[in-house]
Amino acid sequence: MSTAVALAFQPVLDQIAADIAARPGRGRPADYIPALAEADTSRFGMAVAEPDGTVYGVGDWRQPFSTQSITKAFTLALTLSLEGEALWEHVGREPSGNPFNSLVQLEYENGIPRNPFINAGALVVTDRLHALTGDASGTLRAFLRAESGNADLDFDHAVAASEAAHGDRNAALAYFMASYGNIGTPVPELLEQYFRQCSLEASCADLALAAGFLARHGIRADGSSLLTRSEAKQVNAVMLTCGTYDAAGDFAYRVGLPGKSGVGGGIIAVVPGRCTLCVWSPGLDQRGNSVAGVAALDRFTTLTGLSVF
Ligand code: GLN
Repeated sequence: MSTAVALAFQPVLDQIAADIAARPGRGRPADYIPALAEADTSRFGMAVAEPDGTVYGVGDWRQPFSTQSITKAFTLALTLSLEGEALWEHVGREPSGNPFNSLVQLEYENGIPRNPFINAGALVVTDRLHALTGDASGTLRAFLRAESGNADLDFDHAVAASEAAHGDRNAALAYFMASYGNIGTPVPELLEQYFRQCSLEASCADLALAAGFLARHGIRADGSSLLTRSEAKQVNAVMLTCGTYDAAGDFAYRVGLPGKSGVGGGIIAVVPGRCTLCVWSPGLDQRGNSVAGVAALDRFTTLTGLSVF
């Protein structure tokens, strides 16, 4: 059974790449981070990893790109594994219906962000991880290196610096939450950690492999446990409801999988028990999700019938 599924993935990926190549219109790269603005929207890559670490790919699937908010899924998992339920005193788990960098809900919800995947919530999670480990971004990098098997996976300091130079909105979010006592790290130090986290470069192959614990019910690549079975389901649930911001409803409708996007143009997705996916193409829609990436995942679940529904 699993062999038959394994053999089926490569032709599916080839078919998707051909379909995407024939589609006009790819959206625009993120331009509020100048270092990302020049990305080539014709780039496209996609990888599928099976729970045993077998990985298939097409196009630019081995090309490192800026992971950005995809890292929020990994910092959530790492923080939950260390802190458990107490994390939810600092951040909610409801879709926000607002853009990823929105400030508006924070004041009337007393500095507790709606969910871990909007920027405000991710800043809180990174703050918790930093408090628990002393080095949030280093902990994340070590985890991604171990799970992907890529010891070269690293920060892009030029991207981190570019974002810091244009980071007023994230700074505003962090200072505002600090005023409610929901951030413990000094804000400049927290922002440095957060921008470094977002600047991590990884390929579709790296990220499909690194997300494997979400398909293996919380089990890491080396067989040890990161999350309980329930916690792995919880992370997948938050990805489904909040992972693509104010487009999460549309993503569930079109793709039907837990997913997490980033403004570098990558998206990871999970078929629990079956496989993990990562797709990359830098052109974004207005909500900050990769146009070709969402289309490719839509094709994947249509062609394979794989879905959580
Ligand atoms: N680093 C980006 C930011 O904070 C991440 C946003 C994203 O990928 N949606 O604005």
